[in-house]
This record gives sequence, C-alpha cells and structure tokens, in this order.
Amino acid sequence: MAAPGPGADRAERIAANLAALRERIAAACDAAGRPAGDVTVIAVTKTFPASDVRVLAGLGVADVGENRDQEAAPKAAACADLGLRWHFVGQLQTNKAASVVRYAHTVHSVDRGRLARALGARALSAGRRVRCLVQVNLDPDSAAGVLGPRGGADPADALAVADAVAAEEGLELGGVMAVAPRGGDPAAAFARLRAVAESVRDRYPQARMVSAGMSGDLEAAVANGATHVRVGTALLDDRGPIVG
Ligand SMILES: *Cc1c(COP(=O)(O)O)cnc(C)c1O
Repeated sequence: MAAPGPGADRAERIAANLAALRERIAAACDAAGRPAGDVTVIAVTKTFPASDVRVLAGLGVADVGENRDQEAAPKAAACADLGLRWHFVGQLQTNKAASVVRYAHTVHSVDRGRLARALGARALSAGRRVRCLVQVNLDPDSAAGVLGPRGGADPADALAVADAVAAEEGLELGGVMAVAPRGGDPAAAFARLRAVAESVRDRYPQARMVSAGMSGDLEAAVANGATHVRVGTALLDDRGPIVG
C-alpha cells in the first residue's frame, strides 16, 4: 500500500466527517420517529475542488450541490465520469438557465414564474427534463414582495410558482426548498416551510421533496419533514480558497 500523502489525509478527514454527519442524521430521524433512510445528504461542494467531489463520490455520496454557475459548470464537467446528481442551490439569474440545465439534475432555487419559464424553455431545447423545487422565503417579514438576499418566494406565492413549474414540459416539480433566516429560531422557520410543503403536495402529490437544513440546523429541519439536507462545512470544513 502506498504511504498516505496529503490526499489520503484529506480523504480520511472527509470520511470521518461523513460518518459523524450520518450519525447526526440518524439521531435526528430517530428523535422525529422517522426511518433513518428518510433523509438524503446533498454535499454542498461550493468553493471546494473537484478532488473533494471525487472523495465524496468514493464514499458513496451521490448528490452534490453548488450555488454559482461559473463554478458549478466546470466542476460538473470535470466530474462527469462519476455519475453524480448535481443540485443547483444558489440564486439564479434567467440568463444562466441555459448553462444550468445542461448539468443540473435538480434546481432548488426557483422562486418566480419567469425563472420557471426560462428553465423550462432551455431544458426543452437541451432535450433534458430538470427537477425544480420552489424556494420559499422564510423571513418572518418577507411579505414585502422584495427578494431578500437569499431569495425565495413569499409563502403566499409558493403555489403560483409551483403552478408555473408544473406547466413546463421541460421541468418536473419536485417540492420545496428553504434556507432558515439568519438569527431566528430555525425550528419555527422550518415549521412554516412544512405548511407550504403540504399545500404544494395537496395540489401536486408527487412533489414530495423538502430540501431544508444545513450544517448548523439540520436537526430542526429533519424534525420538520426535510427529505434532503444540504451540508457543506460539516463535511468539508471551513471554506478556504480552491487549490487543485
Ligand atoms: C452553502 C449552502 C449550504 C451549505 O451550508 P453549510 O452551512 O456549509 O452546511 C446549503 N444551502 C445553500 C443554499 C448554500 O448556499
């Protein structure tokens, strides 16, 4: 066996982080009375190199997330041999829709009808069917109708955005997504998301995905029905500059 180098150290570190993360999720599922297999990990690899994506894939992670097209497109291309599902989780401008539909399995951040229509048209011309989630703004004072820094539709508009996604032949409505507001109680925020998720599911029973919870608040998300957690730092440690 080759002597372990820096690459091996990195792989060991990520493996240990993944094991600890899986234990956290299992405990959260247990506390919520949910089966342990109920929650899928999306490893958010933004700012981390493609070599880390390879390590994660080798450890059995099948879902990875990115938040900027400029970074995600080349990384997905560099990792095309791994057969991963790429999740686009960041705020998205309509002029990036054509690029994103080429590699994204799921776009988590659809928060307006115009974006749904742009993604739908681009997916159709690329010959792809892209799953989309309605991103919901959980800021308690989001009703102003102005997109906050993190994006998301006002909860009152979420069904209309879901309708816009469902109307697109190139898209498949998968469910809802949210980021807990900074500062507040994540459990209260995720309880609001759960109510929106249920109203979307009442109209579109197949839209069962609830993408919620990050490194710092995944327990509160799992307690409130998250099916997918998006985890970066708990897996990959603090974000540094991309090397390699
Ligand atoms: C970065 C990011 C995450 C992961 O956050 P961590 O705190 O590093 O786990 C999840 N969701 C979105 C939308 C992100 O941008």
